[in-house]
Amino acid sequence: MSEDCIFCKIVAGEIPARKIHEDDEVIAFHDIHPAAPVHFMIVPKAHISSLADAEAAHEGLLGRILLLAPKLARQEGLHTGFRTIINTGRGGGQEVMHLHVHILGGGSLRAM
Ligand code: AMP
Ligand code: ZN
Repeated sequence: MSEDCIFCKIVAGEIPARKIHEDDEVIAFHDIHPAAPVHFMIVPKAHISSLADAEAAHEGLLGRILLLAPKLARQEGLHTGFRTIINTGRGGGQEVMHLHVHILGGGSLRAM
């Protein structure tokens, strides 16, 4: 756990979140400021600052997070598809420096 990391505090149960999934390595919860009708994120419990800080040892964890995405998207009613976003570093617009995968959908998303 990293002191002053808001997602570590959610993992530790120190601040509340609308959780939709939890297992030994990963949690998922709704974004507090949704950018789409459905917007949640998948977060490793271990503090990894960003995708750029992930290492070979995290290969299985990263795979687990990506494979969880379509399962949770379906669970949350996103039957026609969803968007995944990983903001990385200041240049990538990352605001919370604890790796997370955004899942968005439920409306018309602009093509990228
Ligand atoms: P990013 O720009 O990828 O770092 O996104 C951080 C996201 O975390 C933003 O979409 C915020 O709305 C979201 N966020 C920040 N604090 C919380 C919180 N306490 N619970 C849920 N989502 C949060
Ligand atoms: Zn953290």
